Amino acid sequence: MNIANNILEIKQTLPEEVKLVAVSKTKPNSDILAAYHSGHKIFGENKVQDLTKKYEELPKDIEWHFIGHLQRNKVKYIAPFVHLIHGVDSMKLLRVIHQEGAKNQRVIPCLLQFHIAEEETKFGLSLDEAREILDSKEFKLFENVRITGVMGMATYTENEEQVAKEFRMLKNIFNTLKNEYFSDSKDFCETSMGMSDDYALAVKEGSTIVRIGSKIFGERNL
Ligand SMILES: *Cc1c(COP(=O)(O)O)cnc(C)c1O
Repeated sequence: MNIANNILEIKQTLPEEVKLVAVSKTKPNSDILAAYHSGHKIFGENKVQDLTKKYEELPKDIEWHFIGHLQRNKVKYIAPFVHLIHGVDSMKLLRVIHQEGAKNQRVIPCLLQFHIAEEETKFGLSLDEAREILDSKEFKLFENVRITGVMGMATYTENEEQVAKEFRMLKNIFNTLKNEYFSDSKDFCETSMGMSDDYALAVKEGSTIVRIGSKIFGERNL
């Protein structure tokens, strides 16, 4: 695997305004440093323990994104430094992120995760569940979280039409929430969708953040 080269090739196909999160989960620090030394500074992890360890060991100007399912009792470990939490899918989790943000005197950027895939196993909100959170009095008091957009994962299938349809659905959710709740906010601007096998489709459907792992670092065998 030529990691630096893979990143370069992917970046050449991405529109300039689309951010690339290099998903380094299960990969060693040496792989991350290969990417880092080629100039890439944005990485994503899906396990709190791995993320905190890598944060401690690697250069401090790395922008760390948490992309997995986040347990409430582990928010405290990443609250001091995490750049963006992609997978917020409950009021309970958002409340804890706010509390931990306050303890660290920072505002933690978060994306609301939506369920767009056919598979039942994937986490995420429905549009109505998101409205319930955003309409609540309590949410308006959460000064230490900032919702900056939406995130979703498409069904794992070869059927490109279905994947495109699901990405379109997420983009529609983004536009709906933007109109209903965030029309005055510059901060609400991100749609995180697209992985190694489907990022080209995601970009076509309006992704602003792609999360790519195996196409950069090689297959994971863990
Ligand atoms: C692992 C993972 C990715 C990257 O997957 P690849 O197929 O290796 O690109 C993206 N998003 C999430 C949420 C992940 O867990």
